[in-house]
Amino acid sequence: MATMTESIRHPKVQHSECFIDGKWRPAISGKTFTTLNPATEEVICEVAEGDWADVDAAVKAARHALESGPWSRMDARDRGRCLYRLADLIESQIDELAALETLDNGKPIRESRNADLPLVIDCLRYYAGYADKIHGSTIPVRGNYFTYTRREPVGVAGQIIPWNFPMLMVAWKWGPALAAGCTIVMKPAEQTPLSCLRMAQLAKEAGIPDGVINVVPGFGPTAGASVVRHPGVDKIAFTGEHRTAQIIMRDAAETLKRLTFELGGKSPNVVLPDADLDRAARGAYIGLFLNQGQCCCAGSRVFVHKDVHTEFVGRVQELAKNRRVGDPFAPETEQGPQIDQAQFDKIMSYIEKGTQEGAECIAGGARAHDRGYFVQPTVFDRVTDDMAIAKEEIFGPVMSVLTFDDWDDLIRRANQTFYGLAAAVWTRDIAKAHDFARKVRAGTVWVNCYDVFDAAAPFGGFKMSGQGRELGEEGLKAYTESKTVTVSLDS
Ligand code: ADP
Repeated sequence: MATMTESIRHPKVQHSECFIDGKWRPAISGKTFTTLNPATEEVICEVAEGDWADVDAAVKAARHALESGPWSRMDARDRGRCLYRLADLIESQIDELAALETLDNGKPIRESRNADLPLVIDCLRYYAGYADKIHGSTIPVRGNYFTYTRREPVGVAGQIIPWNFPMLMVAWKWGPALAAGCTIVMKPAEQTPLSCLRMAQLAKEAGIPDGVINVVPGFGPTAGASVVRHPGVDKIAFTGEHRTAQIIMRDAAETLKRLTFELGGKSPNVVLPDADLDRAARGAYIGLFLNQGQCCCAGSRVFVHKDVHTEFVGRVQELAKNRRVGDPFAPETEQGPQIDQAQFDKIMSYIEKGTQEGAECIAGGARAHDRGYFVQPTVFDRVTDDMAIAKEEIFGPVMSVLTFDDWDDLIRRANQTFYGLAAAVWTRDIAKAHDFARKVRAGTVWVNCYDVFDAAAPFGGFKMSGQGRELGEEGLKAYTESKTVTVSLDS
């Protein structure tokens, strides 16, 4: 990586207000909240704290843009061009945007610069290409009629996103919504509002008309709940915890909004005795520790066949012990801080529970550094299915290793969770791999790989890990309504 200049280490925060109808505005209440640098616990800046009145203004702007503004008349191909321009602008400022993400979120600069941002750009370009390829079908019906379907934008999309991949979640939400012709009211996570606000400015520069994208920063039960309850919002796309999704579902019942959810997980990652153990250990290590373990699809239950258990555990232990934890702006850093004090405390309490319940901590197990929310990469061996660390989502750098012997029993145990987001298997036996892929109840299955994401590949959960899919064509469909038109051909 190029030498880090001071401007990259201290990126300028350009926007911290609500973005409504193409303009920057303080919250109507005048309230603000602070966003912190999780590596230093220092305040970065004050951010407008939006609530019902701000959301209401944002929804009015979004409805106007949807129904009568230039967006409603824009040719689909030109909508696509707006998205391409946004992707180009992001690419031209990739170092600065990566730095802003690292500042607000704490993720290592090598990841924000070389993983998150390229995926953001790719996702926007993928959906840019879709804008003029959304069409219905002609349908043969009984009688002298001509019947066809149109795919129309679902309307104003309310989008509520978490803090673990702030910019990437913006791209996953804006890409399909804009391609479909929707307008947007977004509520970024209170921990990480800055990169989303910067993207709103870039969207304006890319020629996306005022009112099409509106961003209201603030807290979940106030700004977030206002987006969910507002009758002018047609659909909610939410990424976060399943408990929040349950609240959203109740709040959305009044107006029967369309809902898509991408929630948590407790994903099984299975290592068979014939696997390439170096690859499997590295895959399990990346699959859990990536992004400080703050991934909904983290492979947090590593099931290892008893015949290779000792060899495998030695490898992951060594990898975890050598993981470089520290200043997220240092190019060599592999793991930054957790997002905030609450997450830090939650993770430390799970580490304590793991030890109390009898699991063996073979790496980490304590805080790292005296300042910032750093947790040592932690590996627990001899974990059993009934332990809290095997059942509950930790959302931190804590791996649980469980052993298995019998294949059918393994499948049963892998599925013994109310989550169903992702799963992986490491083996050279193609029949076993496909058998696992068929039987595991999860929205994504990786074979001899982990965390392979692509804008074209649908992502989402079975069971309480979600509802609907994001990305790919399925992700786009979630932003459209189907209209059936029947024309009498009698003269
Ligand atoms: P996390 O534990 O990752 O913060 P949450 O589900 O609490 O997960 O938060 C994800 C997003 O949902 C954030 O933007 C948060 O502000 C928002 N949120 C939290 N509570 C609510 C709510 N009651 N209604 C709408 N949005 C909410």
